[in-house]
Amino acid sequence: MSFESLGLHADILRAISEKGYTTPTPIQLQAIPTILAGKDVMGAAQTGTGKTAGFTLPLLNRLMETRNSHGGKRQIRALVLTPTRELAAQVGESIALYGKHLPLRSTVIFGGVKINPQIQKLRQGVDILIATPGRLLDHVGQKTIDLTQIDILVLDEADRMLDMGFIHDIRQVLAIVPKEKQTLLFSATFSADIKTLANGLLKSPMLVEVARQNTTAENISQVVHPVDKKRKRELLSFLIGSNNWRQVLVFTRTKHCANKLTEQLNKDGITAAAIHGNKSQGARTKALANFKSNTIQVLVATDIAARGIDIDQLPHVVNFELPNVPEDYVHRIGRTGRAGSEGEAMSLVCVDELKLLKGIERLIKIDIPSMIIDGYTPDPTIKAEPIKNGRGGPRPQRKNNGQRTGGQKQNGHKPQGQPVANGKRKNQSSTNARTAKPKQRQSNNVNRPDNFGNC
Ligand code: AMP
Repeated sequence: MSFESLGLHADILRAISEKGYTTPTPIQLQAIPTILAGKDVMGAAQTGTGKTAGFTLPLLNRLMETRNSHGGKRQIRALVLTPTRELAAQVGESIALYGKHLPLRSTVIFGGVKINPQIQKLRQGVDILIATPGRLLDHVGQKTIDLTQIDILVLDEADRMLDMGFIHDIRQVLAIVPKEKQTLLFSATFSADIKTLANGLLKSPMLVEVARQNTTAENISQVVHPVDKKRKRELLSFLIGSNNWRQVLVFTRTKHCANKLTEQLNKDGITAAAIHGNKSQGARTKALANFKSNTIQVLVATDIAARGIDIDQLPHVVNFELPNVPEDYVHRIGRTGRAGSEGEAMSLVCVDELKLLKGIERLIKIDIPSMIIDGYTPDPTIKAEPIKNGRGGPRPQRKNNGQRTGGQKQNGHKPQGQPVANGKRKNQSSTNARTAKPKQRQSNNVNRPDNFGNC
């Protein structure tokens, strides 16, 4: 099946072909005709499936069809809400790319940057607005935006918006936009909260689904490297150096750990930058651009900051720390092996995290193969300690001033045995997960005292 057969506008087809896409992905095959027909959609799509084009292509098409229905005046007719700035920017880029031959204007608005240039853009008139909920409501409050002409509303990564405490903001936006509109809701997971939101919002939606919920893509090879907490950074530097990895996305649980690890990697001669909520928007954009252009080797990210990062064919994702929320594992490793390319996801797991690992394996219904790297065998006398500073506490709430407060709680875990692979206990190195064993490398940091705390 080709893009041509889906009935898209010739100028959209031209942009698709210039981008080099020849065949629609499964989600696109399902979503495009449904959205073109004006139906509401409930999309269960993981990242990496091509879902962004799945909704942006027909959205552009619909706006072209109804271009003259608002008296020819340029008004915001499509609103895309995303949880993070990065995702907003990325959806904005996709819309600009696929709509580059169309006479439609789009703009992206998110917090952390000056509001005045955004007001200017809005005044000039836009057809499509991509926004994060907080800044959108700031504009509503300042009356610098008109949402009364919305024909199409998209909630992208709705599960994450709820996780981030945006439900109240979303409800406020829903109260402003017209009742009569087409609504598209995409979510990687379908919790009870998402279903409640969808029930009140979508009219006889078509369910568009590609991968089963909480499964991990098959073209991603996954492996666990058991290692002592204090030796994780050393092992990471070793893996990157000995395998000569050029582009590695590394996840930590906390901003503090992301900063600390970045500093340590740079000291090890590995170029790295951190991306998390405490970084200015400028710093985040710069770090991402440098990573995409291969100016830096490693991007160290927290879960929320990394949400929506799309880098073509990202080859390696490392979980420096396992996430507290098992679903985040699926999101994290979804950054690699995108749209058919091969990817490798590895997790450095210390004894404290064995319970988290179990939770992840239960969720994805896979026993992740385990492989001890020579020279990094965990010390069996080390007892598990509770994990501090993780997500999983009370959800962040927006305060009146627009900032969010977060609750972080201690998350204790009982000690458990060695990691399990394929149903068996594994105490020694195994080669079933990776064929190439990293070459031994002179490490200049073996004796560096650990100053990571929990990191
Ligand atoms: P998404 O799931 O929307 O984040 O998209 C994942 C990646 O797939 C992005 O890098 C897209 O540029 C790419 N992509 C989307 N549609 C196609 C397609 N039909 N053929 C090849 N790549 C695609």
